[in-house]
Amino acid sequence: MVEISNHMPTAELQALDAAHHMHPFSTQSGFSKKGARVITRAKGTRLWDSEGAEILDAMAGLWCVNIGYGRDELAEAAYRQMKELPYYNTFFQTTHVPVIALSQRLAELAPGDLNHVFYAGSGSEANDTNIRMARFYWAQKGKPEKNIIISRKNAYHGSTLGAMSLGGMSGMHTQGGVVQNVHHIDQPNWWSEGGDMSPEDFGIERAQQLEKAILELGEDRVAAFIAEPIQGAGGVIVPPDSYWPELKRICDQYDILLIADEVICGFGRTGNWFGSETVGIQPHIMTIAKGLSSGYAPIGGSIVCDEVAEVVGGDEFNHGYTYAGHPVSCAVALENLRILDEEGIVTRAREEIAPYLKEKFEGLTEHPMVGEAKIVGMMGSIALTPHKESRAAFASETGTVGYMVRERCFANNLIMRHVGDRMIISPPLVISKEDVDLLIARAWQSLDEGMAQVK
Ligand code: PLP
Repeated sequence: MVEISNHMPTAELQALDAAHHMHPFSTQSGFSKKGARVITRAKGTRLWDSEGAEILDAMAGLWCVNIGYGRDELAEAAYRQMKELPYYNTFFQTTHVPVIALSQRLAELAPGDLNHVFYAGSGSEANDTNIRMARFYWAQKGKPEKNIIISRKNAYHGSTLGAMSLGGMSGMHTQGGVVQNVHHIDQPNWWSEGGDMSPEDFGIERAQQLEKAILELGEDRVAAFIAEPIQGAGGVIVPPDSYWPELKRICDQYDILLIADEVICGFGRTGNWFGSETVGIQPHIMTIAKGLSSGYAPIGGSIVCDEVAEVVGGDEFNHGYTYAGHPVSCAVALENLRILDEEGIVTRAREEIAPYLKEKFEGLTEHPMVGEAKIVGMMGSIALTPHKESRAAFASETGTVGYMVRERCFANNLIMRHVGDRMIISPPLVISKEDVDLLIARAWQSLDEGMAQVK
């Protein structure tokens, strides 16, 4: 057996990686030409790679490391739980203390009567649960035909077949097909799709597409509407202020379930515990994952309101995952929630760091290639453009310029992502003001270098 460790030369690790590891959302053949960057350790907001480079992670991993890297308390919670009860399932009328404690805490934190948690191993699995649960709920109420779920184009809700079908990414739909009875309306992306409309009028128009869809499909056919409070992986699309109040009116008026996908927005990302609070909605179901454990252990779930839980609980719901409510993940999540709360991380993010980050991030619009900067709490994006006034897109293939800037960020030891020609950030909530300054300086430099390549 080959002994593989951090001490191996990078090129050897990369060659083994390319030979045997299939990467998500990647062109695999690319790794043979240009090896993957090997990340070896992390602390706070920093990552180190196998060449010793220190990298500022402005994406908190994949939007998840809300408390920052390297918190011993979470490792100790996992260790204690592994020694005591490393695994037991929650099927067939069994339970355990960590899952009871976490469920109680989530019911306390979640707004309104969201008092019941159905666990999963990830956000994708949780959204698959939501599809089945929403349909089962209406079937239980004698309306099995009420099974269409409305979502939005360019939304990301995960990669399993169900979650991917809820998502509105055409590049995913064309690889292998989708599940039936999911309908997509347009996203509230004013910068790219707003034309001559004012942002406020555009927000209303996009929200009213939900009402039109309900009327066209039939209220008796629509089970639920799912959306992120602030669309994340679609490019941090911050909707106009008029959007959510109008959507809320529509959801209140028609008899459908509202599912808020809080996988990114939850656990402090938007400056409140949940994005639903930030945009002023009270969903029937919330999808959670990522920041629930700050990414230290895989865990996701659906937090469900009293009425839905009662109806669904009236008969056997034939659904569940081996690792649902995994004791180690629950213990880690509980410790993470304790730290977020007791160290005032959510409050500090909202009151101290988010306003500072907003001011600095919005300053990037002074760069010649940056059209708009949008930020809510600790998630933001900038739109790259060759012409700010007309909000033009680059003539090159969509996303090429964003990709070039992302590559420059990578070379400048800053992790920032691109979605098409939008550059996005979602740093750990514990980022300091000094690190915000560094983030902005490296982003600016990368924009300069990217612009030099465009010309
Ligand atoms: N929902 C949203 C909003 C997400 O951003 C993601 C992942 O990025 C998911 C669901 C899927 O979560 P997971 O990757 O844990 O399956």
